[in-house]
Amino acid sequence: MKVLLLGGTGEARELAAQLTDIDVVSSLAGRTKDLRLPDGAVRVGGFGGVAGLTDWLRDNAVDAVVDATHPFAATMTEHAVAAARAAGVPLLVLRRPGWGAGPGDDWHWVNSAADAATLLPTLGQRVFLTIGRQGIDAFAGTGLWTLARCVDPPEPPPTWCTLLLDRGPYAVDAELALLRQHAIDVVVTKDSGGQQTQAKLTAARELHLPVVLIQRPAAPNGVPVVETVAAAASWLRK
Ligand code: NAP
Repeated sequence: MKVLLLGGTGEARELAAQLTDIDVVSSLAGRTKDLRLPDGAVRVGGFGGVAGLTDWLRDNAVDAVVDATHPFAATMTEHAVAAARAAGVPLLVLRRPGWGAGPGDDWHWVNSAADAATLLPTLGQRVFLTIGRQGIDAFAGTGLWTLARCVDPPEPPPTWCTLLLDRGPYAVDAELALLRQHAIDVVVTKDSGGQQTQAKLTAARELHLPVVLIQRPAAPNGVPVVETVAAAASWLRK
């Protein structure tokens, strides 16, 4: 059995670590400078759209695909669905659950980065922007002081915000210290879900700060979707 595991997430690395008895090739887009390589075989870089991925599945005699990419990597997921269908290969999507508000949270849901930027001036003046590199230009015109945290710097580096280069997982104490140090009064995030970057939400709650959450893209229709690494591993072993 040969599996293509579309990765770039902690869940994909965990799954690869559990499947060392299966012929798995993990695939990374190769966007970050310091790649976190999973166990086992790895390929890096785009496939060249749906046609390229379809050819790759055929050329490599792939028996199953697991799309464990980030919930916001919607293009890759769309391509995986189309290519798996074209090549006649079963596909599973592993998608961690989104976050949910609890008591004390002041969350504001929006559909896009542009909508978040429009809402922000009504909520605060000093922004902690934690949506990664992609899409931060939407916030360039808010006129609000902004601390933008990303793994790698956007190209070209933005001049309208203060950049903080860092990579999770993050702890609540450190997030509290960061929010206080910069006198942040509003936080912006994508609904990525998961434990690794959740600490900012706990910190915002403790400081009674509003949080703007960008809704994740819809899950694909017509393919099985699971939420945990264990469920993905058992699908592959069936
Ligand atoms: P995307 O917009 O959905 O995909 C754009 C293109 O990048 C795809 O069409 C594909 O190129 C290539 N690509 C994406 N993931 C790939 C993979 N695992 N292996 C090979 N090629 C891949 O993706 P994205 O949002 O830029 O995310 C890129 C990677 O970063 C993903 O692997 C994702 O898991 C990870 N990541 C994303 C986020 C996020 O917020 N978006 C956060 C953390 C990690 P071709 O069309 O040439 O095949």
